[in-house]
Amino acid sequence: MKMPALILKDTFGYDSFRPLQQEVITNVLARRDTLAVMPTGGGKSLCYQIPALLFEGLTVVISPLISLMKDQVEQLRAFGVPSVFLNSSLSPQEYQENMDYIKRGEVKLLYVAPETLLTPRILTLLSTLKVDLLTIDEAHCISEWGHDFRPEYRQIVEVRKKFPEAVCMALTATATSRVRQDIRQTLKFATTNEFIASFNRENLFIEVIPKQDPSQQVREIIDRYKDQSGIIYCFSRKQVDELSAYLGMKGYSVRPYHAGLDDAERRRNQEAFIRDDVQIIVATVAFGMGINKPNVRFVIHHDLPKSIEGYYQEIGRAGRDGLPAHCVLLYSYSDVAKLNYFIDLKEGDEKRVAIEHLNAIVRYAEDEHNCRRKPLLNYFGESYSAENCSNCDNCNSAPTPLTDITIPAQKFLSCVKRADEKFGAGHIVDILLGSKNEKVLRWEHEKLSTYGIGKELDKKQWMHLARQLLSFGYLKQEGEFHTLNLTAKALESLRKREPILGVMQEAAERVKKDGKKKAAELEYHRGLFAILRQKRKDIADEAGVPPYVIFPDRTLIEMAAYFPQSQEGLLTIAGVGQVKARQYGDAFLEVMKDYCQRHDIKEKPKTVVATREKSEAGGRTLMVGEAFNSGETVAALMERYNVTAGTILEHLTRYLAAGNQLRAGEDLQSLTSVSLEQQEAVFAAFEELGTAYLKPVFDKLNGALNYDDLKILRLLYLVSGKA
Ligand code: ADP
Ligand code: ZN
Repeated sequence: MKMPALILKDTFGYDSFRPLQQEVITNVLARRDTLAVMPTGGGKSLCYQIPALLFEGLTVVISPLISLMKDQVEQLRAFGVPSVFLNSSLSPQEYQENMDYIKRGEVKLLYVAPETLLTPRILTLLSTLKVDLLTIDEAHCISEWGHDFRPEYRQIVEVRKKFPEAVCMALTATATSRVRQDIRQTLKFATTNEFIASFNRENLFIEVIPKQDPSQQVREIIDRYKDQSGIIYCFSRKQVDELSAYLGMKGYSVRPYHAGLDDAERRRNQEAFIRDDVQIIVATVAFGMGINKPNVRFVIHHDLPKSIEGYYQEIGRAGRDGLPAHCVLLYSYSDVAKLNYFIDLKEGDEKRVAIEHLNAIVRYAEDEHNCRRKPLLNYFGESYSAENCSNCDNCNSAPTPLTDITIPAQKFLSCVKRADEKFGAGHIVDILLGSKNEKVLRWEHEKLSTYGIGKELDKKQWMHLARQLLSFGYLKQEGEFHTLNLTAKALESLRKREPILGVMQEAAERVKKDGKKKAAELEYHRGLFAILRQKRKDIADEAGVPPYVIFPDRTLIEMAAYFPQSQEGLLTIAGVGQVKARQYGDAFLEVMKDYCQRHDIKEKPKTVVATREKSEAGGRTLMVGEAFNSGETVAALMERYNVTAGTILEHLTRYLAAGNQLRAGEDLQSLTSVSLEQQEAVFAAFEELGTAYLKPVFDKLNGALNYDDLKILRLLYLVSGKA
């Protein structure tokens, strides 16, 4: 059987699983009923999509949100996964077409609304098919204890009875233990297999700032995210209208969203946001349900939310793609008074609960010392133990002792001087770090004596240092580009070599322990990124889908960092699976080749990080390799591990690739009956196309040899030292 990790890479183009994904998938594949609770953006969809591809029969996904079904199906199809949805938004003809696909057994995943599933028409259709997996998305809707109870969900169990063979999986982002129990009981789970992921979203920078001049404060934040998507939540419809009109007047790309707008306009605005036609949505809390947009870079709360629960859900819409995102709450006590006014109109329990909720969020907003993550996660019953999350305002502003920062300060100041006092802090830092980005090269700053002399600190530390030099009066900032200039104080200090005291920030964990740099920290060409984005937009518009269906931002960032020049290189990029590489690869390759030629840039091969599954399998690879070297035959190994020859060959190939030697293999030669001429032709093809992927070689030979033969020949080729 194909391993989940292979599908993750081949189909979806990702190198590693997110927390608990693999555990959930393994459990479902073992046909155990499974409940998974993961935060928004945790990656719930892959938990059933990967099993769906491994099961022989159909996977039925029950989802209450019509808009999300379409989105999921579009995304799956872009990955080359045959899937359809059935709900009331389809015309009778489209509905019938989709029914026909399913009937013909051409579909792996079917998305349905619960009420659709319960119609005789669908039940009859399904009764003729093999259903292997029944997935219930937003499973908290099953429970009366949940916040979003839907009576139709209660009847899903009837459907379940009709498919006793199908394993059942329930997914949700919110479920108290009572709701979880209710879900399992209602669905008649055979076992208590629960997986609860941490709700900590590491990539969100969480911040509360005192609300002073909110319109101006909002502008300062969004100015930091030029061309990026974000949501601004306001308390009332009126506030939404006013703020969006104001920002529109100031030239921002913005649309409003609230329940007072008519359906068509709401839908239009939401669609424009999803398709990257509009950058910002100003909205009431009515906005967000049913939105899957992964590249939301900021969420601003213009007004105080009513509860921590709501607040966490709203900021959860930022950064689903795992890249850094910024969440800012503008807080003023007058908002508390406003909310109190509305609470006073309530009575009894409702009032009591509302007061509790408000008190909790006020405590949170007013806390200037503790990590923001602690109260947020505690609220959901999770304890957060790290002392410092280094990704919230309170953690970063923690008082730190003053130290001698003379040497880095001198480096920074002299770099400003050598660059003729014409640049902002970001560019100076790039020079110090020895960046080869476009701007550095354009100004020939790689020739400065300060180029690359600051690698002992990271970008964040340098920027922090720059801010201190500004506030200590060594630097001043001028003009709309925030150009840095030295002050008289700086010149004197440089001349006299005076010590400078300041705060040295701790280094961000630059390189993860497995040696992988996060995409966000990747140095990439902004110019190329912008061109790739435009290409993606063009392709998406032509196909009538949101841009993220084509590729997520992270894929474009990696492209603009590694500059792949071939299909093979492209397949190492996150988010590029086989089908997308084939479908869109050439269009993007063309852009990159052209750009690289013009800027004289070479491909930087990306080293693919082993996934956890692969590294676990690494143990097996080692055993197989060593057994083979000590004389065991491939046939014996097949029997010992109860796997095919292809699998053993793959282990041996990996063993070699990891830098080990393999004994010269007569018995490898004997595994193939391919003629020597043909072998030479295949070796030539490996020489030309590389050995990472077999498909190009297969194609080159016009399919004359099957993959098993190619695997043997690849190994022979590698063993022979010809590679
Ligand atoms: P959820 O439904 O839990 O909110 P999704 O399933 O929509 O989350 O996933 C959020 C985003 O993360 C999607 O864009 C998805 O493609 C991406 N994603 C999911 N799993 C991974 C992974 N293992 N590696 C990289 N990206 C992933
Ligand atoms: Zn923190």
